[in-house]
Amino acid sequence: MLNARFFSTIAHIRDLPTDSQREVAFAGRSNAGKSSAINVIANQKRLAFASKTPGRTQHLNFFETQAGRFLVDLPGYGFAKAPFTQQRAWQQLIGGYLADRRQLVGLVLIMDIRHPLTDLDRHLLNWFRPTGKPIHILLSKADKVSRSQAMQVLRTVQTELDSAGFTAQVQIFSSTHRIGLDASETIIRQWLDMVKPSKESPSPATAPDSANILANTPEAIP
Ligand code: GDP
Repeated sequence: MLNARFFSTIAHIRDLPTDSQREVAFAGRSNAGKSSAINVIANQKRLAFASKTPGRTQHLNFFETQAGRFLVDLPGYGFAKAPFTQQRAWQQLIGGYLADRRQLVGLVLIMDIRHPLTDLDRHLLNWFRPTGKPIHILLSKADKVSRSQAMQVLRTVQTELDSAGFTAQVQIFSSTHRIGLDASETIIRQWLDMVKPSKESPSPATAPDSANILANTPEAIP
């Protein structure tokens, strides 16, 4: 898990964090399981539900995993009447962010495994395609279908995206049953260029050489 913490809520492109190095965005239809997925990946019970509070539903929520590395929760789509790419707010903030954000390294798209590739998902994929950046798809709520059904949907979605020329990987996922957590975390860590703590090589904080140095820094004071 990534241990992210809430960083900021953004309503305008001009407010995007300036010292960000890498960002991974999370998108999906409302109710697809996006908030649950972010919470379980980020190891926080209620982190992503901030985006559901009134007044914040059209904002970008930034969660920091390591200095300068962010998970970005995009507003869920699907409830508004107009297709989202025709809405001014969407075009300006979310569309602008997806199309132009240099620090954005990849998109995680969450789709309910029982309703994959809806028109709005296709819309978003096509919108994102010109960036050439990779897409990782979580087929969420996989606990709701049998293993063989899940594998069938996985194959169908992967084949469709491959033949449409997307740089996309698809996996099955369940927040409640913690299915596919390691695979998604591995991808996000790679994209964010994060270092995974390894049991074999001790981290600097536990290495004998650095222990004395750390003991003299303010951070070491309980
Ligand atoms: P969002 O609108 O995309 O952020 O979706 P939420 O994360 O709020 O989830 C929508 C509903 O689906 C909630 O009732 C969740 O409890 C449920 N849900 C989310 N993920 C899973 C899952 O992996 N398995 C099951 N069975 N239900 C889930």
